[in-house]
Amino acid sequence: MPQEQYDVFVIGGGINGCGIARDAVGRGYSVCLAEMNDLASGTSSWSTKLVHGGLRYLEYYEFRLVREALTEREILWQNAPHIIRPLRFILPYHKGLRPAWMLRLGLFLYDHIGGRKLLPTTRTLDMHSDTSGKPLKPLFSKAFEYSDCWVDDARLVVLNARDAADRGAIIRTRTEVTDVRRENGSWRVTTKDRATGAETIATAQLVVNAAGPWVDKVLTGAFGDNNARNVRLVKGSHIVVNRMFDHDRCYIFQNADNRIIFAIPYEKDFTLVGTTDQDFDGDPGEVEISEAEVTYLCNAASEYFAEPIHETDIVWTYSGVRPLYDDGASKAQEATREYVLELDQATGGTDAGRAAILNVYGGKITTYRKLAEAALEKIEEAIGKRGAVWTRTASLPGGDFPATGFDEALDKAAATWPNLDRALIERLFHLYGTRIHDVLKDAETPDDLGTDFGAGLFEAEVRYQMRHEWAIEADDVLWRRSKLGLRISEDDKARLSEHMRAASQSD
Ligand code: FAD
Repeated sequence: MPQEQYDVFVIGGGINGCGIARDAVGRGYSVCLAEMNDLASGTSSWSTKLVHGGLRYLEYYEFRLVREALTEREILWQNAPHIIRPLRFILPYHKGLRPAWMLRLGLFLYDHIGGRKLLPTTRTLDMHSDTSGKPLKPLFSKAFEYSDCWVDDARLVVLNARDAADRGAIIRTRTEVTDVRRENGSWRVTTKDRATGAETIATAQLVVNAAGPWVDKVLTGAFGDNNARNVRLVKGSHIVVNRMFDHDRCYIFQNADNRIIFAIPYEKDFTLVGTTDQDFDGDPGEVEISEAEVTYLCNAASEYFAEPIHETDIVWTYSGVRPLYDDGASKAQEATREYVLELDQATGGTDAGRAAILNVYGGKITTYRKLAEAALEKIEEAIGKRGAVWTRTASLPGGDFPATGFDEALDKAAATWPNLDRALIERLFHLYGTRIHDVLKDAETPDDLGTDFGAGLFEAEVRYQMRHEWAIEADDVLWRRSKLGLRISEDDKARLSEHMRAASQSD
């Protein structure tokens, strides 16, 4: 069997694996990425979806991280203005918790240390006159309003994979890396197709272990390194309830336990509330919200909202596991959010100095691009330099319009398909940006879009996702490449599954 040969083999199709694969292929390395499930099926679709500096990390003196993350906000917004947008955060002053001067000082730093150019600065709100005060209890009379950004996390992953593939990378989903060993100065990587069980062997000069919460498991399993214990798994859960307020800003609430939670406008009709921080030692693929977390989130939000949130108000929940670098911090919420990259090269025998492995620990969605640049520095160190730094000014697929020009770009798209519903165009433009042309093509009426699966999902979109975004199952479409799972009926989902099964067989 002829073996595939790559410069770089990436394990893991989360944001870090896809970000590194994209950067590497763009610099001229040959790259293959294997993801054992769907792209973004791990932690990268379970985040709070903020591109943020992380106001609370200032309390842990993580100035380097906060500064880098703040700077990344406007860079990522410009790279992908369809899936990233500015969001204003309302931080109510709570008597008995952090004093107002401390909040103001933190926000002053936040406004000034991160090269902010386009996002507006902090202002103080009188909650009795500002509309954002209305949904809250009247005792909250003062708040601060500051800027960060919101991102469709799972689509950020898919767009990085798409761009990597457009530049020549091989992206394989439902493909598990089962064995990695050094052989004749390079790596021999065995992968298993999860649908058929078929094994493939590839060789690579360098392997990137970007398996997120599974990073130690990949080391102990595929690499056979029994001593790997580097990652601290910290679970975080969210609840989704029907829309609680009418404006488009989000709340950040301080809790008595020194933590914070967010209440964010979500998918037009909903409010997203999260998150929690709990050490976790189970299987990261089987994580779900606990009763205690539900109670915690309902109580924490009800401390502020005039209308309390009850468990019965919850329409959906999700949970993920943060793969944090284990820095020995006592509390989960205090463990560093910095990323750590460890380059390990063979030290003895014929493989000395060759066949390097790069392990990725920690990181944030927000800092994935910088993490990838740092990873590329290590890759260059190990296997030699090819191209230059390039991702800072490169649009992600569909994001080739000005960050501040979303409305104009959307109007232009809507004018191209005047007979299609504006709400459909708007939803699609938020997902695909200018690549909406590849989804809708020359459709003139809704009939030209093929089967209607309900909730605004048509065959044309499903076809695009299957051909260009590695969608295979209904959940790939409904929960990662969109959030239509919140709206679609069970019957429609069954129709979609059947359609995708038939379509994959006929392709
Ligand atoms: P993952 O996304 O988990 O990707 C790893 C992938 O590796 C998985 O898809 C897995 O299937 C695959 N894999 C594992 N083993 C193998 C194998 N043997 N073969 C092939 N594939 C394999 N960050 C922010 O910037 N903003 C936020 O608002 C934010 N909120 C968060 C809230 C919560 C509750 C959590 C949990 C995290 C949050 N984060 C946030 C952090 C962020 O989500 C993570 O740091 C990031 O998603 C980690 O990405 P990753 O690529 O390292 O891991």
